[in-house]
Amino acid sequence: MLERNLHMLGGTGESSYAANSTLQKRYAAGAMFLVKEAMESLVHVMIPTSETLLVFADLGCSTGANAFVTHSSIMGTISKTCKKLDRPMPEIQLLLNDLPGNDFNTLLGPALSSYKERISEAMREIGVSFYTAAVSGSFYTKLFPKRSVHFIYSCASLHWLSQVPFGLSNATDGTVINRRSLWISNKSPPIVSRLYLEQFQRDFSLFLKHRCEELHSEGRMTLIIPGRVGANALTEESAPWISWYEDGLQDLVSVGIVKAADVNSFNVPFYYPSMAEVKSIIHTEGSFEIINDHAYEILYTNCLDVIPADTDKIWEKIINISRAVLEPLLVSHFGDSIIQPLFFSTLPKMYAKESFKEKYKLASQANLAISLKKK
Ligand code: SAH
Repeated sequence: MLERNLHMLGGTGESSYAANSTLQKRYAAGAMFLVKEAMESLVHVMIPTSETLLVFADLGCSTGANAFVTHSSIMGTISKTCKKLDRPMPEIQLLLNDLPGNDFNTLLGPALSSYKERISEAMREIGVSFYTAAVSGSFYTKLFPKRSVHFIYSCASLHWLSQVPFGLSNATDGTVINRRSLWISNKSPPIVSRLYLEQFQRDFSLFLKHRCEELHSEGRMTLIIPGRVGANALTEESAPWISWYEDGLQDLVSVGIVKAADVNSFNVPFYYPSMAEVKSIIHTEGSFEIINDHAYEILYTNCLDVIPADTDKIWEKIINISRAVLEPLLVSHFGDSIIQPLFFSTLPKMYAKESFKEKYKLASQANLAISLKKK
């Protein structure tokens, strides 16, 4: 069910993910040194010949623009390393994975064509051929043949769980456990954060197990996971934007547009882990050695390439980013009549207030980047 409903807003329109993914591009930029480090070491051990095929997979690639930014950085690093080693450039295959509901038409259509146009000159210069294929399916299942992939990358995707945590949505007696919150907050009973963590532990362990089977023996993996910095920070501070939706939905309940029971039963299916939690799952699962890790924060207000003087424009963008991520899930739960009042009335009224802008001007998203090698 979640596999069908979870996807970012497709197309290339104003509210699409393609037009609202600058923040996620910054998450990737903050950890690109880890990707480069992994590529350099991979090329050193693979000692490519012109017959070598290096296979990369981007898991949870969405509609693509960011996947191609990373890909071009990977190609640049391979080319430099090959030159240094005086080796020919290998052939490269890029496997782009996402859930079946993802807009693969935009990914393989306009996003891929414009990338190919942009880099065609550089590709000719370094003399590389690259091939692309899309792989639809959940990264919590097997995706690729055994030992067939050399480098796995995933950015801003692994916080999505395979389902709303077991126990929150399956209350057989009809009791709704987390009725006062959409996620984990100080309004949730303590069991809620435990159920979220347990779901993350199950999902992430399964992810590691499958990826280990699919990676080549020298395979590397770099993961960038939106997370939290504090060990115990399962509060509003780790995802302030969720509380805006909580308030917005309550507003819609008060004017009769949304039913209170529907809000009570809605829980967002993602988890922001701490670095200690991520590392502990990797150690316990046992397939990977941790080579390097890095935690960093990106300010929400850093979501535009050019910062406009009008701060309302920044907030409009921040809401658009969250809309590109959350709208399909909201629509599948509440119906599409929610879009107009929520995104064009309630939320804009909220961020137009000076007190709101003041409170959240330093809000940020923590990211956990971790570089792994198959044991
Ligand atoms: N990596 C991209 C997109 C991040 S958005 C970037 O950095 O911009 C997160 C993506 O993860 C979404 O497209 C969502 O559909 C995908 N996703 C979430 N759960 C997934 C799963 N179980 N398997 C594959 N993709 C998943």
